[in-house]
Amino acid sequence: MRDDRPVNLRDILRVAPGGRVDLGAIDPAGTPGLPKKAGKEPKVWTRRELESIGTDLASHQERLYAGAKAGHSRRRLLLVLQAMDCGGKDGTTKKVAGTMNPQGLHIVSFGKPSPEELAHDFLWRVRAALPIAGYVGVFNRSHYEDVLVARVHELVAPAVWRERYEKINQFERDLTRNGTTIVKVMLHISFEEQRARIEQRLDDPTKHWKYNPADVDERGYWTEYQEAYQDALTECSTDYAPWYVVPANRKWYRDWAVATLLREAFADLRLTYPEGDFDVAAERRRLAASTSPAKHRVTRR
Ligand code: AMP
Ligand code: MG
Repeated sequence: MRDDRPVNLRDILRVAPGGRVDLGAIDPAGTPGLPKKAGKEPKVWTRRELESIGTDLASHQERLYAGAKAGHSRRRLLLVLQAMDCGGKDGTTKKVAGTMNPQGLHIVSFGKPSPEELAHDFLWRVRAALPIAGYVGVFNRSHYEDVLVARVHELVAPAVWRERYEKINQFERDLTRNGTTIVKVMLHISFEEQRARIEQRLDDPTKHWKYNPADVDERGYWTEYQEAYQDALTECSTDYAPWYVVPANRKWYRDWAVATLLREAFADLRLTYPEGDFDVAAERRRLAASTSPAKHRVTRR
């Protein structure tokens, strides 16, 4: 559906809190919310648009960082990326987070938990990985693995993963109350698209490092994963930390959509630059007076 009204992509892609998501009904090749002006070559348009959205993201991020640096703000933003294998988490991180200043980014990938991590509560490693005030955090996989892979592979009993939904909601509620804006995105690809992407990795020797034979085993659990995703998205899409399902077969739509969701979330924060705590005119005079290297200490503050 394309029209010319300025869309709020969050309204289009959000999993309605209290509603039930049906992933089977969401076309992974779709482009919901893409405006009419994207025209006949939406790939060209979205790629160009991503550059300008990226400039905005960098500007919002700088104000976020500046506010924390000046001690005025405890705000931070956390992008949570979840997807099936080859769903595009790495590509999205590179293309979307890559538009911002690396100095203000905190990017964390979650793999199989270490023995030490397993000895703690599942949220322990997640708490330790949260962005500090002023930072934009990106979670490449997240605490949701503990209701996805943990469920599909029966790493814990059903009663254990079931009660994690509420623990996650509680955790995210606390985070948002303490100044974290959470943007949770599921990159939704099709079974066929995953096959094609795994095949590309096999075809290209420069992509062999990304190939993991276990991905083909995991593919055998596709249906179980989709069910686990549906339940997680349904149980944990809240008004304070909603889930967004981004159709991700088309990388250009995926990047545009995730960048747009972030820009919308940032815009809500209405971040401004902190005011300096000095007298600009007085500083100008001091600067003007420092005319020679030998005498630059003449005027004191
Ligand atoms: P990759 O993203 O390709 O580096 O793979 C990371 C792997 O770690 C995936 O197979 C995930 O399923 C696995 N993983 C991530 N978090 C957990 C978790 N909490 N429990 C078990 N496996 C996990
Ligand atoms: Mg992998």
